Amino acid sequence: MADDRARLLAKFIEPLRVEPGSKVKLARDFDPGYKASFLKKKDAAVVLQAGVEVLAEYQARLAAQDSWGVLVCLQALDAAGKDGTIGHVMSGVNPQGVRVSSFKVPSAEELDHDYLWRYAQRLPGRGEIGIFNRSHYEEVLVVRVHPELLDRQKLPASCKGKGVWARRYAEINDWEHFLAGNGFKVVKLFLNLSREEQRIRFLRRVDAPEKNWKFSAADARERKYWDDYQAAFSDMLSSTSTEWAPWYVIPADHKWFARICVSSILAHTLIGIDPRYPVVDTARREDLAETKGLLEAEAPQGAAPDPAKAELATQAREEQAAKESEQARKQRKRMKKIRAKLAEAEWPKR
Ligand code: AMP
Ligand code: MG
Repeated sequence: MADDRARLLAKFIEPLRVEPGSKVKLARDFDPGYKASFLKKKDAAVVLQAGVEVLAEYQARLAAQDSWGVLVCLQALDAAGKDGTIGHVMSGVNPQGVRVSSFKVPSAEELDHDYLWRYAQRLPGRGEIGIFNRSHYEEVLVVRVHPELLDRQKLPASCKGKGVWARRYAEINDWEHFLAGNGFKVVKLFLNLSREEQRIRFLRRVDAPEKNWKFSAADARERKYWDDYQAAFSDMLSSTSTEWAPWYVIPADHKWFARICVSSILAHTLIGIDPRYPVVDTARREDLAETKGLLEAEAPQGAAPDPAKAELATQAREEQAAKESEQARKQRKRMKKIRAKLAEAEWPKR
């Protein structure tokens, strides 16, 4: 069952993965409006819920094992849905195990260091999932589209010049290789939004008073550089999708579909790590049994020696009943149908 699930997830996300070494041209290779033929919007809630449950289970195991860490880098233009995606996809996960870091215009102190310095400080620890909402890739995106930002980075003249972007790609690849070699999985997600959908979402931010805070005129002015950004994204995807830290291009025009894609990629990553709860050895088990005996002997007159045991049994019964509820049964049936359709689907190869 778990293997089956892993195989189907791998199949589902395959068309989104940027093959290492391939030359990407965004407009030609990836459609922002793409969605899987066998998934309907009305199924989105059920599928996302299934993903949320997998993530919750595996994140708990990742934390208990305390060996691997996961770094998720989210890149996108404004209004592509980064914030909403994080909120929805991670909704079931214990907040203690997840750290979200957002990167804005660098501070004076940050500009006084090498360009990876501020990102290195926010890396996840072992057992943690770190989410970069914008990431070190801004250093080859916004900084490339606006060369005056590179000037602000105070590099010596001999470190700038023509080869600077190729050098940054190589440095970033090396950095991620180093992380991967030391127990940190790096997953990179690019939310691919169309120009027209961005226009509509900006208008929504203007028209809806509770969304005004998310909008600035500068965001709209940045649309002038649309083609430059598309070129920078294409070059970044071509140069930095590696076996150890692959890029996935998420079609972002349909939010519900984008969230399912992101959730599936994270689930696939965690299932791949296969974190396990630490095994309790015999000595420790004997230790626990002895402690249990002592605690039971302390029971006050009339109290059950071990009320926790009864509690656990009740909890297990309640969980079982929830699993057998009408709604849960319907959802499982629906998921089974969707999985069967995915298993049969002719899958686009890009
Ligand atoms: P937001 O994520 O919408 O709050 O905006 C953050 C802003 O910071 C965006 O306009 C980014 O382009 C900008 N930004 C992020 N990283 C960098 C960087 N390394 N250099 C310059 N600007 C950046
Ligand atoms: Mg913004």
